[in-house]
Amino acid sequence: MKVKLLNASIDCLSMDQCIDRVAELIELGGPRRVITLNPEILYRAVRADHALLELVGRADLVTADGEGIVWAGRVAGTPFPERVTGIDLMLRLVERAAAEGWRIYLLGAAPGVAEEAAKQLTIRFPGLQVAGTQHGYFKPDEEVDIVQSIKQKAPRLLFVALGAPAQEKWIDRHIDSIGHVVAVGVGGSLDVISGRVARAPLWMQKLKIEWLGRLISEPSRWRRMLVLPRFAWLVLRTYRLGRK
Ligand code: UDP
Repeated sequence: MKVKLLNASIDCLSMDQCIDRVAELIELGGPRRVITLNPEILYRAVRADHALLELVGRADLVTADGEGIVWAGRVAGTPFPERVTGIDLMLRLVERAAAEGWRIYLLGAAPGVAEEAAKQLTIRFPGLQVAGTQHGYFKPDEEVDIVQSIKQKAPRLLFVALGAPAQEKWIDRHIDSIGHVVAVGVGGSLDVISGRVARAPLWMQKLKIEWLGRLISEPSRWRRMLVLPRFAWLVLRTYRLGRK
């Protein structure tokens, strides 16, 4: 089931259900898009980037990425079962990929990071088949060759880590040329999986303050995080103050 939050449709599914949905999409075939929607992308889509909002509308699966979206769902009266973040979804999908024999491709992050992430994933999930890797700092005129190379390697799952919303736009531009693949935008996940960036400790995740851990480890993100209070205000204005 999809719910509408600030004009964007988001799937009201648990992590397990999201994994089953992706399995279904792989089975169905064709180009398929998965977006892990966090407050930052949602705010941008509804306030400033109509093309991005349309793109979210075209996705085959949109997950509630982070506590901010889960909170907004509660305020709007359409609660989500749980948060389904990019990195958690990716790790669960890779685990399933190793079991099912789905080949994966990792695109994005600085040179060397996708290879290192692939290495770590194959250690963690024996039997995993990595069809290929490609860093995310290519020139626009290299894109056609990269897309052709991904197509030739025929992965079932393509993880794109170019940052949001660049990765969602990249997927949208190229997925039809790649063909039979499920593409998932995963932000900074390759940095974390490769060990380059530490994820916030579990206690912070449990206290729902993972964003604070991220801010401490990458203080340069403070400006981007200013969107969070704006997002919260928009949600409250729309769903609380607008009500009689
Ligand atoms: N990145 C990339 N190419 C670029 C810009 C960024 O591959 O031209 C990568 C960057 O190295 C990092 C990821 O995209 O691995 C973005 O991570 P971030 O944590 O900022 O993701 P977001 O929070 O935007 O989802």
